[in-house]
Amino acid sequence: MNAAAVGGPIVVLHDHLDGGVRPQTVLDLAHEHGVDVPAAEVEALAAWFTITPGMPFIEAFSRFDLVGAVLQTPEALTRVAREAVEDLAADGVIHAELRFAPLLHTRKGMTTVEAIEAVDDGLTRALAETGLNARIIVCAMRDQPAAVSIDVVEAAIVSGCERVVGVDLAGGEMGYPAEDHAAAFVLAHKAGLGVTIHAGEMDGAHQVASALESCDPHRIGHGWRIIDDCEIDDGRIVALGPTATALRASGAPLEICLTSNASLGLPVEEHPVRLLRDAGFRVTLNPDDRAITTTSARRELELAVEHHGFTRHDLAQAMERAAVGAFLPDDERAMLVGRVRAGWDVSPARLVHLAERSEWEASRPTGSYLPGAFATDGFIHLSALHQLLTPANRFYSGREDLIALVVDAHYLGPALVWEPGTGTDEYFPHLYSALTAEAVLGEFEMTPAPDGNFLLPAALMRAVHA
Ligand SMILES: [Zn+2]
Repeated sequence: MNAAAVGGPIVVLHDHLDGGVRPQTVLDLAHEHGVDVPAAEVEALAAWFTITPGMPFIEAFSRFDLVGAVLQTPEALTRVAREAVEDLAADGVIHAELRFAPLLHTRKGMTTVEAIEAVDDGLTRALAETGLNARIIVCAMRDQPAAVSIDVVEAAIVSGCERVVGVDLAGGEMGYPAEDHAAAFVLAHKAGLGVTIHAGEMDGAHQVASALESCDPHRIGHGWRIIDDCEIDDGRIVALGPTATALRASGAPLEICLTSNASLGLPVEEHPVRLLRDAGFRVTLNPDDRAITTTSARRELELAVEHHGFTRHDLAQAMERAAVGAFLPDDERAMLVGRVRAGWDVSPARLVHLAERSEWEASRPTGSYLPGAFATDGFIHLSALHQLLTPANRFYSGREDLIALVVDAHYLGPALVWEPGTGTDEYFPHLYSALTAEAVLGEFEMTPAPDGNFLLPAALMRAVHA
């Protein structure tokens, strides 16, 4: 592992409070509250904790049961929230959204609002120690009645904690579709909260469809099973089904959790993270349950490098996409995106411009290309390869006259400026001059699929990565 490859600020969107409790803290709290533990030494408990592939669900969930049993007081929740932020900050995380289900902490009479306040208190203390101002996502549970999910979302709203920035739907998917909880998420949207839904983790793409159609989520937890709605040929996605098309068009980031999925039986090397990324899905990398699956935020980046060939630039783009998808007020999110960009400090050497064939060909005799849109925008729109499909499908769906120009960024000089695109905090490369022929390394046909949607042509990908 090349340490430099993974060295940069990390944004964590998907991290469960109860999945990340330090084993020593579990022991301390168990002792304090008279809860039986399967191992009295911290090393043995840490070993017992780790869920292994193939472990029956009931055994895997017994880890969460033990943690749940010791997290029934405000003091306990405050402690683990503070420690979670300490651990994340020590790992180089600069933005974290910690999620938990208040309902799981009410066995001894703590209310859901009190549970939220206790976590908020822990985060306030951690902010003073670490400088990391983590946020809270409140989880409703799929196996609970719809009315209970409404109560949970209302608790998130009435808690008045400014750190509560979003709500989630967690728990077993099979037999518990997201649509049953749609009313709760209508409330969340009305209150201006971010919405993320665990879907397509343990059950199929139809659960992603249900989540998209009924809850209008800003992000999807996991979502990797959307691969079942994609056609794969020769190691790449060559066509998207209706749910995959809708998911990609929604722009919702996928909160990918490699180790977590491995612990439930999907080997890391078989994870479709790279296929999905290359097909234009917004991939982010997250730890999910740090203690229970023995991982960390940075370990997830290392796994993407080791098993999926992610480069430093690929990691930077995943972190930037996570920052763009963060549940933060506009000004804070824009600042976070800027910090991530500055911290990783990598820009791709080869960019892409989508051109109308006739305009490009008309410029050929002059050696200098200036599309008609330059007159109104003042610059030429370029994209990094991973950004190309979003504008292509948004603005040019079905167009048959497009070509993709591969551009050598080194030729563009100071006329190339990376800045937030229209209506997004994501940075795009804008060229404030004409594009000269010498900077163009190649041109590639962009041919839409029969449904009008574009995928990256293999030859274009090779030319950019060459
Ligand atoms: Zn999760």
